[in-house]
Amino acid sequence: MSVSDIIAAIATAPGRGGIGVVRISGPGLVALGRAIMGRMPPPRRATLANFHDDHGGTIDQGIALFFPAPHSYTGEDVLELQGHGGPVVLQLLLKRCLDLGARTAEPGEFTKRAFLNDKLDLAQAESVVDLIDATTEQAARCAIRSLQGAFSQQIHALTQALIELRALVEATLDFPEEEIDFLQQSDAASRLLRLRHQLQDVLRASQQGSLLREGVHIVLAGQPNVGKSSLLNRMAGEDVAIVTDIPGTTRDAIRQILDIEGMPAHIIDTAGLRDSSDPVEKIGIARTWAAIEKADMVLLLMDATRRETAGDREILRRLPAHLPCLRVMNKIDLVQPESRVDFQESGATIRLSAKTGEGVDRLRKAVREAAGWQGAEEGLYMARERHLQALRRAGECLKRAATHGRNPELFAEELRLAQDALAAITGEFSADDLLGEIFSRFCIGK
Ligand code: GDP
Repeated sequence: MSVSDIIAAIATAPGRGGIGVVRISGPGLVALGRAIMGRMPPPRRATLANFHDDHGGTIDQGIALFFPAPHSYTGEDVLELQGHGGPVVLQLLLKRCLDLGARTAEPGEFTKRAFLNDKLDLAQAESVVDLIDATTEQAARCAIRSLQGAFSQQIHALTQALIELRALVEATLDFPEEEIDFLQQSDAASRLLRLRHQLQDVLRASQQGSLLREGVHIVLAGQPNVGKSSLLNRMAGEDVAIVTDIPGTTRDAIRQILDIEGMPAHIIDTAGLRDSSDPVEKIGIARTWAAIEKADMVLLLMDATRRETAGDREILRRLPAHLPCLRVMNKIDLVQPESRVDFQESGATIRLSAKTGEGVDRLRKAVREAAGWQGAEEGLYMARERHLQALRRAGECLKRAATHGRNPELFAEELRLAQDALAAITGEFSADDLLGEIFSRFCIGK
């Protein structure tokens, strides 16, 4: 990706719409704009214009917006042509830009240029995608806070405290002959402790934000006909899975994103786990086990009217040992409270009826607790795994630093490493391949 050329892309979603936007960015796009519209619109003023083809014919009529550098999204000259939102007319307009020397923007290239021109730091750039991809209201609110710099500010505050502590230690390095525990002598020990607490707070809020971003992956497992599809439908509040009383109806995994008190939950309704000779059902069952391997949690459904079967025990035996499993006993509407079957070795079991809805709220609460979701209170950061790793790395450096009370050199070195880890979050120095990886996940036109 070169930053010296003009890039163009249709910035609105594909398909029909009221308005469609072609976005163009790069140095020297004034000539391109003149060729299309006859003249450039005044800066930052919505201007009605005809968009012409190379014979002077009109492709479309719409609004043109011109943002001269550096006061634009990318920091370069940016021109937005807002036409009618039809796929053909927008393609014609884009093609006209390409004929005039622009090239098609790669995914995320506008935002990458914004980052390279210091309009956004890396954590903010990442939150652009998070905002677009947000699946719950809380996730969207959290992403916009990160985009506006709330997360980056926390990282800067940590970095600032680190720099001050480093300065204190560097001063000690100037008097190496003094054989003292400088951590105790100076204010360094208490400062380091404060810094470690501060880092832990940011890490905790980031872990919650990460849950908000990634969601929790839940597999609904159990024998055929125990009510997995019915429970999914009940939780989703709409019919997404086929419910019948013929065992083995759900042959393929059905995925649905639910909003469990603000936490996105990816629920996978699975093919009934049983021995089957039907080849299609066998494939479904194999996929179920594959989904279980990747899940964060399993809801193991059982039928309150039946005793635990060999099939139930087989499923339990095969579940990965590390995977948290919530046992759910369904169909309690069919049994008298005193005659409910209790499965022996089970821990806590949630009793509910997918049919009447009784107990489903208890299940939501149990899922939320098992995932460690504390609710989307203010102050979460839309963190990614990359950010969590960097924060943990910085935390480990600070932990090691605390053991170097008599060795200012090693102490200072750990502080420096911690600072590097934090700088990677905001992208102060980032490898090119990391940037490529981050921006390639964007949509075209962003
Ligand atoms: P799956 O094979 O595990 O996905 O089970 P389904 O959701 O297809 O349900 C199998 C049968 O049990 C259907 O006839 C459902 O109507 C019935 N069923 C599911 N949950 C309940 C429940 O809570 N109470 C009662 N009475 N019937 C249920």
